[in-house]
Amino acid sequence: MSKRKILVTSALPYANGSIHLGHLVEYIQTDIWVRFQKMQGHEVHYVCADDTHGTPIMLRAEKEGITPEALIARVQKEHERDFAGFHVEFDNYYTTHSPETRHYSEDIYAKLKTAGLITSRAVEQFYDPVKQMFLPDRFIKGECPKCGAKDQYGDNCEACGAAYAPTDLKNPYSAVSGAIPVKKASEHFFFKLSDNRCVDFLRAWTTSGTLQPEAANKMREWLGEAGENKLSDWDISRDAPYFGFEIPDAPGKYFYVWLDAPVGYMGSFRKLCDDKGIDFDEFWQKDSTAELYHFIGKDILYFHALFWPAMLENAGYRTPSKIFAHGFLTVNGEKMSKSRGTFITAESYLQQGLNPEWLRYYYAAKLNATMEDIDLNLEDFVARVNSDLVGKYINIASRASGILHKHFQGKIGNMVLGLHTQGIGSPTENIREYRDVVLEKLVLHADSIARLYEQRQYSAVTRLIMELTDNVNEWWNDLAPWELSKNFSKPKNPGDPELLLRVCSVVIESFRLLTLYIKPILPELTKNAENFLGLDRELKFEDVNLHLSEGHQINPYQHLITRIDPKQIDAMTEANKPALAPTSDTHSRTRHAEAQQHATAPITDIISIDDFTKIDLRVARIVNAEHVEGADKLLKLTLDIGTEQRTVFAGIKSAYDPEKLKGRLTVMVANLAPRKMKFGLSEGMVLAAGDGNGLYLLGPDEGAQPGMRIK
Ligand SMILES: [Zn+2]
Repeated sequence: MSKRKILVTSALPYANGSIHLGHLVEYIQTDIWVRFQKMQGHEVHYVCADDTHGTPIMLRAEKEGITPEALIARVQKEHERDFAGFHVEFDNYYTTHSPETRHYSEDIYAKLKTAGLITSRAVEQFYDPVKQMFLPDRFIKGECPKCGAKDQYGDNCEACGAAYAPTDLKNPYSAVSGAIPVKKASEHFFFKLSDNRCVDFLRAWTTSGTLQPEAANKMREWLGEAGENKLSDWDISRDAPYFGFEIPDAPGKYFYVWLDAPVGYMGSFRKLCDDKGIDFDEFWQKDSTAELYHFIGKDILYFHALFWPAMLENAGYRTPSKIFAHGFLTVNGEKMSKSRGTFITAESYLQQGLNPEWLRYYYAAKLNATMEDIDLNLEDFVARVNSDLVGKYINIASRASGILHKHFQGKIGNMVLGLHTQGIGSPTENIREYRDVVLEKLVLHADSIARLYEQRQYSAVTRLIMELTDNVNEWWNDLAPWELSKNFSKPKNPGDPELLLRVCSVVIESFRLLTLYIKPILPELTKNAENFLGLDRELKFEDVNLHLSEGHQINPYQHLITRIDPKQIDAMTEANKPALAPTSDTHSRTRHAEAQQHATAPITDIISIDDFTKIDLRVARIVNAEHVEGADKLLKLTLDIGTEQRTVFAGIKSAYDPEKLKGRLTVMVANLAPRKMKFGLSEGMVLAAGDGNGLYLLGPDEGAQPGMRIK
């Protein structure tokens, strides 16, 4: 097998928030792949960086009274700590605020400009006259144009989910100063993605096997049919004040995210090359034969599958070999949520004393090569890790090593067959047969396992490894060596020491192979397993073809991994619940959200009748309604749904006098997860219609009774 040269990246986390379990899906996915390729003996470089520029960084630093440089340096340390905590091992972790990234941003910009692919025009945007700056969408707030909810961001409403442009907001105000923003024109630079050179290139590139099938389909939609041109030019500049790189020939203008964040992949790799004497051009020049892979979330596909390759192609660089997009993380089947305590940061997971390899294993058991979302079901997490890792894999080592140390000084015996000549059906014949089945089967699956890793089919990898693990455990149970071991110490009935030694040796050898197979997923645990096995170096994939030799000394077994106690999980979710009123989940992908310029849709996705029937809607009688001290928008309602009474906090104070609500019927969502609010627990939701000008509680026709189901 020839040695491949591979450069791998994960998406750059924004330097304005903490790493959470949702982010970790991608870094763990990438890290497993990189470790596998390194175990194959290839030359692999894994680089990443913090995405450090933009208005949010500038404003946050200002708020904290520090420089943006100090802020991003601090956040980078936190991010590196979190990644290291989960054994994500970059060859270089860097910052986009680097001389290397600046160099390539300017270089690419200059080349695109020479190629006639940069254009400029005036753009009208909201401007904060007090703060004297243009406002990004997320820094404009106002009333939702669809439902009228107050204090909504300029891109979408958290009350009703509607997406819109900031100019659609009613009564907009600047989230920075509170001033009423004015519209102001300014010159912006654009990359001409709609140019035929880009469109033609992308039509070919996106269908050449660089993307997953579902991603390629998405691109076909975005690109339109041949002859059509659906792409629009991309705004690559922002006005001062801004934290970023000033555009060389345009004072007061700065490169916007598109022209510095992905270039951060190059910047980080350049730094690694300079530190380690690697040839940068060999990986990035137009005719490079090295491989380049970007692992990303599906939300930034547009950006990595259209904008980035078109930019590289026209600036004279190589384009990515493949883009690997993954889905989002849900926890217990739902979006991560602060109020449910499932918005879990990497830091808090580790602080609760949870083992990072539990999560690595569980994610691996769920991940495949598609863009489907993956679910972290916390109950299943406990069960799966305890059963697979502790009950199956580690069990093998602990069982056999005890006997080996008790009777054979911890030395491996001969695993070669054919020493015994007893008849068919004797234990010795069995072991021949079983050795074939167990050990040979393990070795024979090496290629399948390697292929599955290569294809990022980690759930299939773990399934196969666990099947093989089951085989070893079954074999052990069938042969019951503990019985052999019992007889072994009785002089009158010495049993069969050779058989016993061989059984234990084959089992330890099986454990060595399983350890090798699972090593990319569990780097720390397998390092300890290698020590236990008395290996003098780390396992590589080619070690499948070796085996422990006769007389090899293994170390006494020491606990390699503990079980998860479900109480630890409860403590973690409890620790992640907010102390006060629930705040909306942070938008750590803010910058990425801005990329979804095309994603506006007035009506949300079609759902099936099954989805609809999941919502248990009931007729409810409002038996009590009262004001809540300290709440501007809420009324506290007591609802009777026939079988029980519920407390619901409803944001309808602006429209209703509580006295007039008492006794009337309305409609409630009865199976909504309870939500802890500042004022108490809200156990459901009442339904109301609104358009920004009014709010109208729903009610059934006469005759309906509390508790009746609505369908
Ligand atoms: Zn709304």
